[in-house]
Amino acid sequence: MDVNQYLDDPAAGPAPAGAGAAVEDDYLTITMLSAGLRQILRRRAFGVAGRNDDGLLPAAWRVGFSRLWWRFTAQDVSPLASDLELMALCQVPLVTWPVTLQLSEADLQNTLLLDGELSSFAEQGARLAHIDVEAEWVENRVHQALRAAASANGADDADVVCVYAFLRRYLIDHAVLTDRDVQALERRFGKTDSSGQTYVRRLVEVAYMARPAAGPHKLLLCPHCRNVLVNPVDRCGTAGCAGGPAEVVVVTPLAAIFEQHRATRRFVHDPGLVEARIIDALRVEELAQTVRVTAYPGVDALDVLVEFLVKDDSGKARLVETWGIDAKDQVSATLLGRGFTWPSSIDCQQRFLALPMHRAQQPGYAADLEAELDGRVTGVQVISEKRLIAKVKAHARRLTQ
Ligand SMILES: [Zn+2]
Repeated sequence: MDVNQYLDDPAAGPAPAGAGAAVEDDYLTITMLSAGLRQILRRRAFGVAGRNDDGLLPAAWRVGFSRLWWRFTAQDVSPLASDLELMALCQVPLVTWPVTLQLSEADLQNTLLLDGELSSFAEQGARLAHIDVEAEWVENRVHQALRAAASANGADDADVVCVYAFLRRYLIDHAVLTDRDVQALERRFGKTDSSGQTYVRRLVEVAYMARPAAGPHKLLLCPHCRNVLVNPVDRCGTAGCAGGPAEVVVVTPLAAIFEQHRATRRFVHDPGLVEARIIDALRVEELAQTVRVTAYPGVDALDVLVEFLVKDDSGKARLVETWGIDAKDQVSATLLGRGFTWPSSIDCQQRFLALPMHRAQQPGYAADLEAELDGRVTGVQVISEKRLIAKVKAHARRLTQ
């Protein structure tokens, strides 16, 4: 979705002519408000004015405010008098707003702000808006550094995909590292850039924050997702994580510990957990003869490629079918549906959008997602991670019978 068009669109301010569906679209309004809120929070945090600062609130916020104004008027509710009133509304669930918004039941339960920060729902909306380039900066830099490290260290195209998959998985499995871990990575992937620095160290510097630490050091980790917990009684806040008593791990850094940036954790580590579970469930002994699993094929064009193989009479394995899997762990099904595309570069007979169980089990989630995909993305089946794994196993069994 390119919402930038609405910023320059005079229809976004006064009553829209001919923009019919667009002004009725409360998701677009929420997307705008979320993107605006993020810029406001950043300006506040850094105490700096935005680029081309004209002393006004961000354009996305103004567009969201004015779209909402029309919504209030259309429903005969007196419109909000000020930005502060709207800011206050952002802290309460959307379902309690004085105006009725056409959002899914589940999405209406969200707030846009939570304890002074963007909620995960608003974060998803803001990302979809593609307005705030800076916020995607860390995430994009992590992906760039991953690609650069893979292409420098891979011997050929197939090896580049392998190195990429290894490093991508490394970020999912390691929310925290010591300098000894980084040195081990450098020994394995030793290629350096023109300044003599290894590509993998660059990746670590982009994705993690270093802090000095020497000698034995206790870390508290969530036993499931391996995120760092601050104290032993903390519950793990990662979406869908079963949590459990913190695991104490003693590490012995030489001089530094590296912890993932918040952006790395939220946009690379946490959404990667479902991908990792699917890959691990398919790379098992019972499937080894019939299913070839490629993680992040096409250097992350997709999450998983599943190739079904059967042995011909001479005992040679022959490729008979290919399935593609993209796994997504996002708060709002509707916003996910809007931002979702299937990569054209990967050829496969069946395409799956896999949901982690904590999303798939949410009432209405899959239906809302399917409704949003309908007519926009064709031939993609929405499926839970468990059903997907069962389906792959059943298909492999059929092929070998
Ligand atoms: Zn956890």
